[in-house]
Amino acid sequence: MGAGSAGCVVAARLSEDPSRTVLVLEAGPAAFDDTRVLDPTRMPVGPGSDLAIDYPVELMSDTRGSVSRGRVVGGSGAVNGAYFVRAPDADFARWPASWSADEVLPWFRFLEHDRDFTGPRHGADGPVPVERRDAERFDGVGAAFADVALAAGFGWIADLNDGGDAGVGPVPLNVASGRRASTAHTHLRPALGRTGLTLRPRALVHRIAFEGNKVRGVVWSEGAGERLVLTNRVVLAAGAVETPALLQRSGVGPVNVLVRQGIPVVADSPNVGRDFTDHPEMLVPFMFPDGRDATDVSAPVVEVVLNVGDCEIRPYTAPFGDLVPGSGVSEWQLGVGLMRADSVGAVEIVSADPSARPSVRYGYLRSGRDRDALGEGMTVAREILSTKQFGGGRPGGGHVASPAARLSTAAHLCGSCRMGTDADSVVDERGRVRGVDGVFVADSSVIPVVPTRGPHATVVMVAERIAAFLAAPAGADTVHL
Ligand SMILES: Cc1cc2nc3c(=O)[nH]c(=O)nc-3n(C[C@H](O)[C@H](O)[C@H](O)COP(=O)(O)OP(=O)(O)OC[C@H]3O[C@@H](n4cnc5c(N)ncnc54)[C@H](O)[C@@H]3O)c2cc1C
Repeated sequence: MGAGSAGCVVAARLSEDPSRTVLVLEAGPAAFDDTRVLDPTRMPVGPGSDLAIDYPVELMSDTRGSVSRGRVVGGSGAVNGAYFVRAPDADFARWPASWSADEVLPWFRFLEHDRDFTGPRHGADGPVPVERRDAERFDGVGAAFADVALAAGFGWIADLNDGGDAGVGPVPLNVASGRRASTAHTHLRPALGRTGLTLRPRALVHRIAFEGNKVRGVVWSEGAGERLVLTNRVVLAAGAVETPALLQRSGVGPVNVLVRQGIPVVADSPNVGRDFTDHPEMLVPFMFPDGRDATDVSAPVVEVVLNVGDCEIRPYTAPFGDLVPGSGVSEWQLGVGLMRADSVGAVEIVSADPSARPSVRYGYLRSGRDRDALGEGMTVAREILSTKQFGGGRPGGGHVASPAARLSTAAHLCGSCRMGTDADSVVDERGRVRGVDGVFVADSSVIPVVPTRGPHATVVMVAERIAAFLAAPAGADTVHL
């Protein structure tokens, strides 16, 4: 349930076997041909968007904010920045051994068709097209940013999907012919004619129904009323906010949370919703002296990034008011994302009502290490903005102190139903939810720690692999490509 970045992959893969019946329940609309979904130069998540939902969040104990999630077939991947960078190999040291960098590489290759690079780390036949903008075509801000970073001595990383840890390079994008290629397009749409596959858009899942600890079915609605569909297997792919909320509403979660909401306990699973990770992002406003005329309207949201220390610095290619229609932010901004943070957060339902948004608390910047690491990234960002390419020293150019830099989140939430081999983890290495029979999770919630890059490519990889586990014959130890 949930036809987002991961759910579209799982549904497409499971329906390859015509003997299987796959019902996909997705809360958002099917909008395959909506130009907002196809356009990689904008993120249609602003106020009033019918393709996304906003959650009020607590970023720090005294700082409120919000986080968006796609609510449309294709999920957040249908409305995101189309930055499609794999988690670096070193990240997988914090995953279970069966998800080592060597184990996952064939799955990264399997899912992609890289149009720029070939060789042992790349795929040529996968469904997701990957390409980078030629540095010659960078827009005004991207070109200035790359110039400054290179002049400052940072190395050029031509392929961020096979790169070192520090340097500047063009962003791999899941874009083809100027269109965002979400998994709604790369995976689900081509599968829709299959007899065993049914997609129900605008179908809100309320909870899983259990008999004892065995799945009996799924309770959902299309508008008013409740329906029950019987099944012995449920795959949750509602994303890192709603998947733990769905489990909690179904009676699988921390007992105190369930009791508080009057939900009968099916399985005490204290870590459902706990210890998720995300990237804090400081948005540093600046004035770009060449103004909007320098903006190439075909530029993706971000086309070049600099990785330095624990931070990633992103020169957004236009003011957010343009990138996120309706957001009303008129300044240009550099994003400084802390990609390795100590902070962990929690998702908790505040009601048994499926339409109530859960509470999301981030706990950002509690550790001195996080504050120092982000401060170092901010220093580099300000140095960049003080250069002549950004109009530093000229009136109307460079860094503006007011309004001050603003803390936000990169909306990369992962790990709210952590996968692991230990009994405290929510799901095992194949995505099976511990403590109940017949429930699986296959989305960003299972990723043990948010990747040190944007998570989208890694989410798709996880979905491909868990789908293969689900499709494997009972008793199979492993799955091969
Ligand atoms: C604005 C934005 C920009 C981003 N930019 C980037 C980027 O450029 N690069 C990058 O790497 N990452 C980016 N991310 C993050 C990335 O897109 C997500 O990590 C990824 O898409 C998550 O995939 P998922 O399948 O776990 O969840 P989602 O893709 O969010 O899918 C969850 C789906 O479940 C559905 N759903 C939820 N609850 C229910 C319910 N009760 N019943 C039925 N359906 C339900 C939702 O409608 C949604 O379609 C961005 C995210 C956002 C929001």
